[in-house]
Amino acid sequence: MAKVHVFNAGPCLLPEQAIDNAIEALKDFKGTGVSVLSISHRTKEWEETMNECRALWKELLHIPDTHEVVFLGGGASLQFLYVAMNYLEKKAAYLDTGVWAHKALQQAQGIGEAYALACSKDKNYSYIPKGYEIPTDIDYFHITTNNTIYGTEIKEDMDCPVPLIADMSSDIMSRPVDVSKYDLIYGGAQKNVGPAGVIFAIIKKDSLGKVSRYIPTMLDYRTHIEKESMFNTPPVFSIYMMTETLKWLKSIGGVEEIHRRNLEKAEILYNEIDRNSMFVGTAAKEDRSIMNVCFVMAPGKEALQDEFMAYAKSQGMVGIKGHRSVGGFRASIYNACTKEDVEALVKCMQEFEAKNL
Ligand SMILES: *Cc1c(COP(=O)(O)O)cnc(C)c1O
Repeated sequence: MAKVHVFNAGPCLLPEQAIDNAIEALKDFKGTGVSVLSISHRTKEWEETMNECRALWKELLHIPDTHEVVFLGGGASLQFLYVAMNYLEKKAAYLDTGVWAHKALQQAQGIGEAYALACSKDKNYSYIPKGYEIPTDIDYFHITTNNTIYGTEIKEDMDCPVPLIADMSSDIMSRPVDVSKYDLIYGGAQKNVGPAGVIFAIIKKDSLGKVSRYIPTMLDYRTHIEKESMFNTPPVFSIYMMTETLKWLKSIGGVEEIHRRNLEKAEILYNEIDRNSMFVGTAAKEDRSIMNVCFVMAPGKEALQDEFMAYAKSQGMVGIKGHRSVGGFRASIYNACTKEDVEALVKCMQEFEAKNL
């Protein structure tokens, strides 16, 4: 098969090293003679992996002792409900920066009083709202740091006068984060740190237990902190793959090094979008995501969209179709995507321009 360059928005590309190790573990997990798919989660070998995974999270993100990390099933979408269940008492505010942020808000509204403090829907979520003031009479402020569909990103850890909660599904481990500024950081693994089937939640331990409602056992973060993510059968294979992905990340120099690489990849691609007369970017420049790069045909060139898609496909590009709510193209350049992948896409864009000038 010819070389392909995978820009899928999620599930994401995973490092080759992780895939190779998984092939081995599918047959024989750590010399037990048992597949990782069949290993009991109560064995010493599995517990070692679980502990290693937790330790890697703490080391790579410099998670302080005030916080604990748990791994659960249900997707980031179920975390929208966990957030409200565990933190919403009187009122919560959300920054509405896209479909995911909005869905998180809607789940909270099913539980109690929650509202959008600011919203960028007026321009199809192509920018991050600014200039709003965070009130102090709310239980928490919820943000979505990277808006996977629109390619916008909040790249700095904000100062927040109330507990700050962030969905970091699609930019976790792409850049350094000051975890101490958040009461909760959560997300699905499949956008940057593993396959689908597992979520991570980094929880400030003393932020829990402040709501008066009954929280069902499975939806209570305290259950999973106490049982070290093994209250029930964990998504064993997804956690195994996440561990292998993080081992790779550590081996190349960790979050600081991947951030440097991610900035470089994003710059190469955005520079081409800005230079190339065929394309224009859709996200406000100051809010451009370093993970999801969205662009459309330039005004007057719209009729060439299908032709570019076909050409890119013929050159091995996979997964560059934009989300239906934005149109055009989206290249997701997560951690495992290499500079060579980005350069191949850029070459494709340049060749297409030369053919159509
Ligand atoms: C994909 C995505 C989600 C939803 O994740 P699921 O695991 O499919 O529920 C939530 N938030 C963001 C930012 C996403 O990119």
